[in-house]
Amino acid sequence: MKSAHICQFIRDIYKTDQFIPLHAPTFSGNEKRYVADTIDSTFVSSVGKYVDEFETEMEQYTGAVKAVAVVNGTAALHTALYMAGVERGDLVFTQALTFVATCNVIYHLGAEPIFIDVSKTSLSLCPDALEKYLNQYACLTDKGCVHKQTGQRIRAVMPMHTFGHPAEMDELLVICHQWQLIMVEDAAESLGSVYKDKHTGTMGEYGAISFNGNKIITTGGGGVVLCASQQSGKRVKHITTTAKVPHAYEFYHDEPGFNHRMPNLNAALGCAQMEVIDDLLASKRLLASQYSEFFAGSDIQFVEEPCYAKSNYWLNAVICESLESRNTLLNETNDSGVMTRPVWTLMHHLPMFKNALRGDLSYSEWLSQRLVNIPSSALILDK
Ligand SMILES: *Cc1c(COP(=O)(O)O)cnc(C)c1O
Repeated sequence: MKSAHICQFIRDIYKTDQFIPLHAPTFSGNEKRYVADTIDSTFVSSVGKYVDEFETEMEQYTGAVKAVAVVNGTAALHTALYMAGVERGDLVFTQALTFVATCNVIYHLGAEPIFIDVSKTSLSLCPDALEKYLNQYACLTDKGCVHKQTGQRIRAVMPMHTFGHPAEMDELLVICHQWQLIMVEDAAESLGSVYKDKHTGTMGEYGAISFNGNKIITTGGGGVVLCASQQSGKRVKHITTTAKVPHAYEFYHDEPGFNHRMPNLNAALGCAQMEVIDDLLASKRLLASQYSEFFAGSDIQFVEEPCYAKSNYWLNAVICESLESRNTLLNETNDSGVMTRPVWTLMHHLPMFKNALRGDLSYSEWLSQRLVNIPSSALILDK
């Protein structure tokens, strides 16, 4: 299919001759009103009602037992892995096909990633590939799951729900149970995506969601840690707010905490965005169905949600026939002001992770030569 034809189709959808970004936020509701309210009240920072409101919204919407709002998705992932007990010298399973933040947080805890291939069904962590790696290289000992070659403890499994498409969670959870691994979900991209009847981020011990400006809803910068129990939720709140013991005037901190708390200013934006999330999701599903129909039967394959899931279709993606046709598509669309992007450079090709342990990554490699993300902003008319 010719790039010009694709650009015209996208221009017709967005009804513009101007530059079309990959993913722009939409502010169609009470965003200005709530943000102005924090300024009028002077409560723009660590105190104010919107943080509590936003956390309650997140719990009600996702069904998580506890939600703790933090400054960004990376901080949410960092907190989640820290809470999972990942320590210096540990290993953590994740994907080579992910955004770098997933691996940076592993690194900054002094741990190391083991890269596992993604599945054809979900483009997320492949249960079969994970199981194969464990059978070959891991054993269970009295200190838990251990890597047979390095002797390091393998602590956690962190699937990332790529572009919003939920990973094969039942299979992954069975493996975690068998191998005494803790499940931490990188649900940064997948707010609103549902696996069977559960929201992504609520099936592991912890889940992390991002509200960066390019995600499905935004708080400017922001994230949330979803917790599976009240007890862990309490501790996440405590360590993300400097571990201060409540007191009328004393400063007493009972463990090394983080200052990861989301400011009230950002939470206000988030509360307004949550009021329109259903409209955003509906708009994105409509857009995905239009793309699906448009590319059907062509030499470009549109990436559909897995059959067991309802995806938020955060970023729409297509798979080209070859590296050459991918490069042609990238060059021609970007040259004509329609933004498209290749998938992230695979993590084991980045200098800091080039020596990381890994399984067979052939599908990740195959995809990385062919995958292109196409414009995915929701289309919501201003009220
Ligand atoms: C966006 C994203 C993050 C990080 O979120 P920030 O809010 O930008 O820190 C982490 N992991 C994945 C997969 C992401 O897409």
